[in-house]
Amino acid sequence: MLSSPDPRIPDAVTPDRLLRQEVLAINAYHVPASTGMVKLDAMENPYVLPQELRDDIARLVADATINRYPDSGAHGLKQQIREVTGLPQGMDVLLGNGSDEIIQLLAMATAKPGAVLLSVEPSFVMYRMIAAFTGMQYVGVPLTEDFELDLAATLAAIRQHQPALVFLSYPNNPTGNLFDAAAVAQIIEAAPGLVVADEAYYAFASDSFIPQLARHPSLLVMRTFSKLGMAGLRLGFLAGSVAWLEQLEKLRLPYNVGVLTQLVAKKLLQHHEVLLQQAAQIRESRAWLYDRLVGTVDVRAYPSEANFILFRVTHADKVFEGLKQHGILVKNLHGGHPALDNCLRVTVGTPEENEQFVTALQESIHQSIQDESCVVRR
Ligand code: PMP
Repeated sequence: MLSSPDPRIPDAVTPDRLLRQEVLAINAYHVPASTGMVKLDAMENPYVLPQELRDDIARLVADATINRYPDSGAHGLKQQIREVTGLPQGMDVLLGNGSDEIIQLLAMATAKPGAVLLSVEPSFVMYRMIAAFTGMQYVGVPLTEDFELDLAATLAAIRQHQPALVFLSYPNNPTGNLFDAAAVAQIIEAAPGLVVADEAYYAFASDSFIPQLARHPSLLVMRTFSKLGMAGLRLGFLAGSVAWLEQLEKLRLPYNVGVLTQLVAKKLLQHHEVLLQQAAQIRESRAWLYDRLVGTVDVRAYPSEANFILFRVTHADKVFEGLKQHGILVKNLHGGHPALDNCLRVTVGTPEENEQFVTALQESIHQSIQDESCVVRR
């Protein structure tokens, strides 16, 4: 590096000199360009709202006091969330700017020197990334070949590493399955710290740990409204006992949930049935899509309780590119984790999008197999 010729002017600071090693080492979370594509990569709800509701929202937004800070306590919104969630007595919620922010807040709160964040692998990548951001040690316990919990290995890792935080995605992203509830309960009992059931996909699943909150004092349940049709609003919450939440609240930035998010989310939760109806349609489409995937040559599809399906093909990179050429964006998980070799993940879209996807997939697979046999022959 060039030194400044004038000794009174210090050398220009550069990222590699100033930033923490953990930050320099992280690969940024990549969000691919998707303009003009059928977007089936990010587990969004594909449906827009009924016109009447959109008009109501337009009026609300027009009158919003965006010159003022939001209600920091978001009391009205929290009350509605408690109601639609059916929160047990004595439990409360903490709001986040998406549930990603809540993962970060939990990590900040527990990141004593040497503290461990434990999860399973493959699972949601932000657990590992946020552990790195906050200086926590990360331990990832491999799932079994069928992406189930390896209970013995998980309990052994808990005994060995004494994690301050355990995250279990329930259902799991990116595999889509719901772990065995009895195994999760054993993990909660064995863990010396907090266990977070991350129920991002609760709206599409057949089970939840919300009713178990009162039974396990160290259990917290995290949810997001992103998958239910509010991804653009950025709203997630953590449910648990007041004893935990009042401490965690100290770390929440005072205005993390904006005026517009509060207003629109309150309106949408008043019409919760509209969103639940959309989720029901997505579950129905998921069954249709799963059947098509199972019936497609060269595809191994994994059962899902979420709004996406994981599947394996022989040449994932080629099939991914083929789908892109057909204007369809899915998530390519190949190369991200050894257990996800040649895996792709498709979000359930509208029936039309799903049909488009299936046709494009069949063509892309056919092409990938042909390309490969040409290479072999050559
Ligand atoms: N948890 C899981 C398991 C997820 O898959 C996601 C989003 N992909 C999140 C949390 C974060 O969601 P958001 O920040 O949109 O609330």
